[in-house]
Amino acid sequence: MSFLDKLFKKKESVENKAKDAANKAENAAKDAAAKVDNAAKNVAAKVDSAVKGAAEDAKQTVAPGTVEKVIHEPKFADLGELLPGAPAGGKINLAIYWAAACGGCDVSVLDVNERILTIGDMANIVMWPVAADGKEKDIAAMEDGEITLTLISGAVRNSENEHMVRLLRQKSKILVAYGTCACLGGSPALANLVVEGKDEILNYVYTKTPTSADFQQTYHKDKPVIPQTSYQAPEGELTLPVLYDTVKTVDQVVDVDYYVPGCPPQQETISQMLKAVVDFVYAGVALPPKGTTIGITTKTMCDECPRKKSNARITEFLEPYQVNVKDGICLMDQGILCLGPSTIGGCGAKCTRVGQPCRGCYGPTADVQEQGASMFTAVASLLPILDDDPICDEEKIIKIVSEIRDPLGYFYAFTLGKSLIKKAVKETGGQ
Ligand code: SF4
Ligand code: SF4
Ligand code: SF4
Repeated sequence: MSFLDKLFKKKESVENKAKDAANKAENAAKDAAAKVDNAAKNVAAKVDSAVKGAAEDAKQTVAPGTVEKVIHEPKFADLGELLPGAPAGGKINLAIYWAAACGGCDVSVLDVNERILTIGDMANIVMWPVAADGKEKDIAAMEDGEITLTLISGAVRNSENEHMVRLLRQKSKILVAYGTCACLGGSPALANLVVEGKDEILNYVYTKTPTSADFQQTYHKDKPVIPQTSYQAPEGELTLPVLYDTVKTVDQVVDVDYYVPGCPPQQETISQMLKAVVDFVYAGVALPPKGTTIGITTKTMCDECPRKKSNARITEFLEPYQVNVKDGICLMDQGILCLGPSTIGGCGAKCTRVGQPCRGCYGPTADVQEQGASMFTAVASLLPILDDDPICDEEKIIKIVSEIRDPLGYFYAFTLGKSLIKKAVKETGGQ
């Protein structure tokens, strides 16, 4: 039996044990949930009655009109006057769009804290689905290039994402792939590992997840209902975006001017990017070269991590919760799988500083395309080969490596969209 056959066999047995444990845990959780549910109902009833009582008390003690309403009215600086070269009206047009995104990137824009007011000073926000109005038809009605800056977060995984990304590219002078999903595919691109593509995903989501399975069993027992992309209603055709089999990065669909990685991008990077645009628009300072990735260093995450690394041999892999993490010592040296060696620096080692391993959200280092393969190599170099065994101990290595749960998902958690792996395929012919 070959090394790989042995490895896969070992992994299968480890996974089966994990599944048994998960089933037991699930049953225990259901029992516990039922108990918690009953307890919660009792508490809710008590809270409800307490709130009603308090409301009655309040009616009696607070006279109408005595509660003051606080209105925040920030004073906006007139950047049009302060800075030369400002566009007509003193403001640029800014669009922020989310494609297949979780919303974290949108929230990260707010991480600039009070500087969000400066964004309000410098920009008319013409589209920001999570926070402001601005519809597709409004963007379509604009002149080409009328939007100065567009930030796109999220990957492209359906026909609506693709349409909007193309439209915004056409209307924008500067287009930024904002966040790791937009730059590298991020977690949405892990869907590319689903062999049967969108059909398998939709089928799973709408018929197999606990809540959907329950719904289908109750209401559509004979023929489960899965949303259609087109439905002819009496009033006309109703449509939904078409899900794609392959999730794409933004630059696999349109030309991208700048990249801002991070899941989500760090506040310092956002400020840096906005400053570059403000300097360009209002003071004529040249922008960085097209294609620049903003907010990264030329080194690896390990280089900015304050933990001391001794390249200790890995004899077992542990989850952070299984370890009393020691300060100042490399997490890999403590058995915790950390993607710092294969990740580009720039975040300031946000995770490892607080005892959590780097998951690689800033993407690969400059000379590497395959962050996952690079990490496999880094791990392989730390296995206890040739240390106490002059000859590679296959069984030992197989045992250690098989402890990594979901290696593809772990090592490619953020970069599968840009990986050479592209997609999982099904082998046929009994292979
Ligand atoms: S990069 Fe991270 S925070 Fe941004 S949309 Fe993707 S998953 Fe969310
Ligand atoms: S903890 Fe992670 S990032 Fe820090 S030195 Fe170790 S491997 Fe590198
Ligand atoms: S430490 Fe790693 S996972 Fe955490 S923010 Fe930095 S690059 Fe991302």
